[in-house]
Amino acid sequence: MHSPNSVRPAIAIDGPAASGKSSAGKMFASQLGYRFLDTGLMYRAATWDVMNNGIDINESEAVSRVVGKMEFSVIDGESGENLILVNGQDVTRFLHSTAVDVSVSPVSAITAVRKIMVAEQRRIATTGSIVMVGRDIGTVVIPDAPLKIFLTASAETRANRRYSEFIADGTEVDLTDILSSIENRDRIDSSREDSPLKPASDAHMVDTDDLSLNQVVALMVELSMGII
Ligand code: C5P
Repeated sequence: MHSPNSVRPAIAIDGPAASGKSSAGKMFASQLGYRFLDTGLMYRAATWDVMNNGIDINESEAVSRVVGKMEFSVIDGESGENLILVNGQDVTRFLHSTAVDVSVSPVSAITAVRKIMVAEQRRIATTGSIVMVGRDIGTVVIPDAPLKIFLTASAETRANRRYSEFIADGTEVDLTDILSSIENRDRIDSSREDSPLKPASDAHMVDTDDLSLNQVVALMVELSMGII
């Protein structure tokens, strides 16, 4: 049994693009009194920095050099959301642009980039009481996490969800473009050699196709009972 202020183990949530990891993971973390880390934002920040430095993302050595020099940190915003600082500048608002969406999977497939990100994620995980979401959290970052959850949903469901988010934001987008961007990222993330997207053998699989956000969070809380 853990006292409310003691450090509790980190929790791993993985899944493909737009599977609801961030929305559900953040709510789940808040219900547990945990912090939240969206590791996708770290790869997005690296990609943004590479592009901002005018580097061709196909030049893996140049990409690795820039990411190796990047000074970045993750801090918590007012409502527990993650903000990413690169060289002291808050770049979070740039990280979901179409340009970053298109380039983030190739950049994330580079082993030298992953080494840097995983080292920082492991350091953060040791502080405990944190829900971490990504692609390789249960398999690589914290393979000894006592609770691992892998979210799935069809590409169409995920594209529809992302589309509704954009529309709610007042951003004009094309559903077909979103679907093909999601499918493209899934393909690269699942087939890369280093840390491909896949469920850990001991992950709880949660198919969210027919579940609301609240239902997904409730399921996560149920899974955590007796473990956390
Ligand atoms: O989660 P999100 O879709 O924002 O992640 C953006 C990209 O970052 C993914 O498509 C993947 O290429 C990469 N990523 C990763 N490993 C993680 C988290 C994200 O490779 N742990």
